[in-house]
Amino acid sequence: MPLFDVIAFDADDTLWHNERLYDQTQAGLGSLLAGYGIRASDLAGHLYLTESHNIALFGYGIKSFTLSMIEAAVDLTAGKISSREVLAIIDLARAQLNAPVELLEHVLEAVPQLAARYHLIVITKGDLQDQETKIARSGLAEFFRDIEVVSDKTPQSYATLFKNHAFSPQRLLMVGDSLRSDILPVLQLGAHAVYIPYATTWQHEAAQPPAPATPRFYQLEHLGQLPDLLERLESQIKK
Ligand SMILES: [Mg+2]
Repeated sequence: MPLFDVIAFDADDTLWHNERLYDQTQAGLGSLLAGYGIRASDLAGHLYLTESHNIALFGYGIKSFTLSMIEAAVDLTAGKISSREVLAIIDLARAQLNAPVELLEHVLEAVPQLAARYHLIVITKGDLQDQETKIARSGLAEFFRDIEVVSDKTPQSYATLFKNHAFSPQRLLMVGDSLRSDILPVLQLGAHAVYIPYATTWQHEAAQPPAPATPRFYQLEHLGQLPDLLERLESQIKK
């Protein structure tokens, strides 16, 4: 019998590249504001503050980010930004939404291999429509039995989701690139967690890693190593 009933995956920067799209969009905003003498570092700082305030009301994802870009641009230019430039910011968001879904290395091989043995689901936050569209365009939809888009990833939101699906946390493994959102909350609930860091982490998702040798916590370099890890864990149980 497999060791886990369910393997749950984060999506952004776990299955496909995401953070770098936000970086590109922000760079586009930077070019637009350079004409007003605003430095990229000042934009980064002010935009992050604006996002941090807005997340509680507008949530995660590109639409919320777009509102924060517009708000930051108005603030930083003291209201001088033109309506045409506001439209250009919305176009940056449009380009990001339409960008091709680029899978991380090893995902295309590992996911079908795991789906043959395990019940796979996706647990992601962000805009519902954007995430559903990305799953559809990723070519991976057939391997996941459920796609759950949640407004935030807290111990409470995971507990509710596990309860609604009748998942036992002890028999669930979560895979993700965010310690704060994918790893720490599920460890707290008694689930297993595999942390696969992405090249860059959005400041908001940064967190202290669990102490070394924390039970049920594993770290890998890429998803291609997950089937081997599962095999190792299962052979340990049999012994
Ligand atoms: Mg992620």
